[in-house]
Amino acid sequence: MAKSELRGRKRRKQLAGSDEIISLTNVSKAYATGAPALNGVDLHIQKGEFVFIVGDSGSGKSTMIKLLLRELVPTSGEINVMGYDLVHIRHRKIPKFRRNLGIVFQDFRLLKDRNVYENVAFAQRIVQVPNKEIKRNVPSILATVGLAGKYKAKPRQLSGGEQQRVAIARALVNRPSILLADEPTGNLDPKNSWEIMKLLEQINENGTTVLVVTHNREIVNAMQKRVVTMKKGVIVSDEEKGVYIDED
Ligand code: ADP
Ligand code: MG
Repeated sequence: MAKSELRGRKRRKQLAGSDEIISLTNVSKAYATGAPALNGVDLHIQKGEFVFIVGDSGSGKSTMIKLLLRELVPTSGEINVMGYDLVHIRHRKIPKFRRNLGIVFQDFRLLKDRNVYENVAFAQRIVQVPNKEIKRNVPSILATVGLAGKYKAKPRQLSGGEQQRVAIARALVNRPSILLADEPTGNLDPKNSWEIMKLLEQINENGTTVLVVTHNREIVNAMQKRVVTMKKGVIVSDEEKGVYIDED
């Protein structure tokens, strides 16, 4: 990242400190073996941003997502997400914290023996939303992701793109402030990949902060969003309206 860019970010942070929704400060994460997966990472994201995280396999992208979900705790450094200090958060507060995060994975992770409606409703049952509200919320979110007519289908009766839409509906039904997606188009063909990315963009335009880990060079280059590039556990570039940087 250029020095002027760095100064710009710092200035913005000072101007809009309270609008920061994700902040990593000098974050490192070492697993029991191997080189550190993250090494002194600083990343600040404002409410309402859309950010791509790109980088080679093994560069630490999924580790970062797991830290943001508080699935992992950093070896050193500070992480703050939606005002929660994730290093010092009490265990009993973690479920409430996670309720405000939606997460989508490459492999969809749907309940195979439940239909579309039940897969989405499940996320609401866990947080004890009354059935009456579930009956209102689920059809509405399924319409948002373009699956209004498919609520009775089982996952195996759906295409990959449709299954990912169900996963996105499930991630959104509790109205999270942040949506995290770890390679959401990794199992999809180009047409479905585009449709899913456009859906994520639309969700962002409706106010949700969106972070997308991806290898999809063509989509990153076309979408003109902020692009954070990782390499061997370090952020090597962070650009507004960035592009997917070619390796070496
Ligand atoms: P990415 O998502 O960018 O492919 P990861 O965050 O999954 O990268 O992995 C970063 C590094 O940490 C890799 O070298 C990987 O082998 C290592 N790693 C990831 N998870 C573990 C684990 N549970 N135990 C040990 N090493 C791990
Ligand atoms: Mg990964």
